[in-house]
Amino acid sequence: MRFCPMCSAALEPVELGGYPRLRCEAQCGFVHWGNPTPVVAAIVEYEGKVLLARNVAWPEKWYALITGFLEREETPEQGVLREVQEELGLDGRIREFVGHYTFPEQNQIICVYHVEAAGEVVLNEELAEYRLFAHEDVRTWPRGTGPALRDWLDRKLGRVDASMRIDGATTGDEP
Ligand SMILES: [Zn+2]
Repeated sequence: MRFCPMCSAALEPVELGGYPRLRCEAQCGFVHWGNPTPVVAAIVEYEGKVLLARNVAWPEKWYALITGFLEREETPEQGVLREVQEELGLDGRIREFVGHYTFPEQNQIICVYHVEAAGEVVLNEELAEYRLFAHEDVRTWPRGTGPALRDWLDRKLGRVDASMRIDGATTGDEP
């Protein structure tokens, strides 16, 4: 954002509350705080597999979670189920809240849910295609919704327990 949405004067960089902001110094004093936007994301399980989808704007090999913005007055739970319905045509049921994940590159905070879905897949215009992956075959990615999927798979496949046992065994400095 470069110009004030209230009066169209140029915004100036200032520091407020310990963070860089943009303020309408010349005229009305409007502050662009730059707070993160909430986004909801679904790890969709369908027919016992993980459903990942490719957005029409993405390269051939990019598949990711179903995501979307919230509508006014919607809870994240309502929003994530609506997105699953809109984008995949599936009826979803929330099984677990996976966690909140920051996505600094997009200035977003992502609320991630594990959603079990049923019905017949009908993609909307945002999606080019989808693929079903066995849990062991999912390769996660380092940013955006990738860390949430990795954490969920680690728990699901028992990877977290395994690493904790190894840590405990190598401590070995008890009296
Ligand atoms: Zn202004």
